[in-house]
Amino acid sequence: MSDHYDLIVRGATVVTPAGPIHADIAAEAGRIVRIRPEIPGTASETVEARGLHVIAGIIDSHVHFNEPGRAHWEGMEHGSGALAAGGGTAFFDMPLNSLPPVTDVASFALKRAAAESSSLTDFGIWGGLVPGNVDQLEPMCDAGAVGFKAFMCDSGAEEFPPSDLATLRAGMKRAAELGMPVAVHAEDASLARLGAAEQRARGTDVRSWLRSRPVELELAAIRIAVDIAGETRCALHLVHVSSPQGVMLAGDARRRGVDVSIEACPHYLLLSEEDVIRLGAPAKCFPPLRPEELRLGLWRELEACEIDTIGSDHSPAPPDMKRAGDFFAVWGGISGCQHGFGLLLSEALARRPPEIALPHMSALFSTNVARRFRIDRTKGRLAEGFDADMAIIDIAGEHTLSNGELLYRHRQGPYDGRKSRVRIVRTIARGRTVYAQGRIAPGATPGHLIRPSQPSEPYHRSSHA
Ligand SMILES: [Zn+2]
Repeated sequence: MSDHYDLIVRGATVVTPAGPIHADIAAEAGRIVRIRPEIPGTASETVEARGLHVIAGIIDSHVHFNEPGRAHWEGMEHGSGALAAGGGTAFFDMPLNSLPPVTDVASFALKRAAAESSSLTDFGIWGGLVPGNVDQLEPMCDAGAVGFKAFMCDSGAEEFPPSDLATLRAGMKRAAELGMPVAVHAEDASLARLGAAEQRARGTDVRSWLRSRPVELELAAIRIAVDIAGETRCALHLVHVSSPQGVMLAGDARRRGVDVSIEACPHYLLLSEEDVIRLGAPAKCFPPLRPEELRLGLWRELEACEIDTIGSDHSPAPPDMKRAGDFFAVWGGISGCQHGFGLLLSEALARRPPEIALPHMSALFSTNVARRFRIDRTKGRLAEGFDADMAIIDIAGEHTLSNGELLYRHRQGPYDGRKSRVRIVRTIARGRTVYAQGRIAPGATPGHLIRPSQPSEPYHRSSHA
């Protein structure tokens, strides 16, 4: 008698951290139970994947799905569906721009309920660090937060104020005691205000706006953030680092012993200043897209393994907020969780052979994210015993991306017309197909809250005092 499984994926090239292998994958009760060539037996669902690659499901640790409160900007269902169409099987939702923002346990519970009722994939929840809420970090940690997010400049949402240095220091100290990472949007608040005042007086066009937020804002803030992280022994996660100089500053701090991880976003690696000038609002984000030579420099840092994770920073808004004569007033946020990862992988494959590009990008998309946020006992790799989260991709042909295929609530994005050699054929979350053949699979079930495991080495404040 042969075995029967819930799912068998047959004949694919499976991208594991050790490199690609040719194998079948069998899943049972949402977990991978076997990975080996030609698994005997039958399955309730058999997926033929000969000629295709399978990567671990992408864990997007940086999205703004804006629910509750601003589901008309995106919402959990649209956002997670679009993510699944892009190969994603889990996301961490940022504490803003939902209403209320997640800055205490009550708002954490509201976010969790919203995701549990309509997210198509598993999800984690970031807590916010804002002035006056340091006493809320522990309860949010107990509720299952993956980390805490702070802004060093205006966030664009009044209800989520930036952290002054005292807040940042106290928050990082508390987070370190809890063994939790703090994610920081690193742009210097006073330089941002100065730049805006200076440039806006000269013009309100896209070029003036670009001049108002030079790389120096990022570098100034990173210097401060890594110093405080070093002082407080906090695990610092720098989100959306936009420049090679920023990566180098953080890398230097790491070599001095500061626990810092670096996130890059697809848009800083795929688009440059010229694109925001050409495309306008769909390509406006904070920090802004950079000159071409910095984009290429960021690739060099990525290929030198100086970057740890890729997050989309998917941050949509209704179309009327993406239109204005005054470019300073346009909403800053790129919608990218559906097209960004695949196109980035396509670019990586154009630069290096698949046996190098695929495992490295898969580590940045999944394995490193799982490790950094301590969900690596169940997620982040294709291995027996892990959640059956995977994306089946075709890298053989080339196709043209279209905004028409976007599953976002608002079909806006900066990649329309770009050629990609990576097509997401099917996305499987906990052993069930959530996306295939261009659409969300019927009967998808809501995802679960992902809780970080306890720190393996408990933090002892006294040992560093
Ligand atoms: Zn963000």
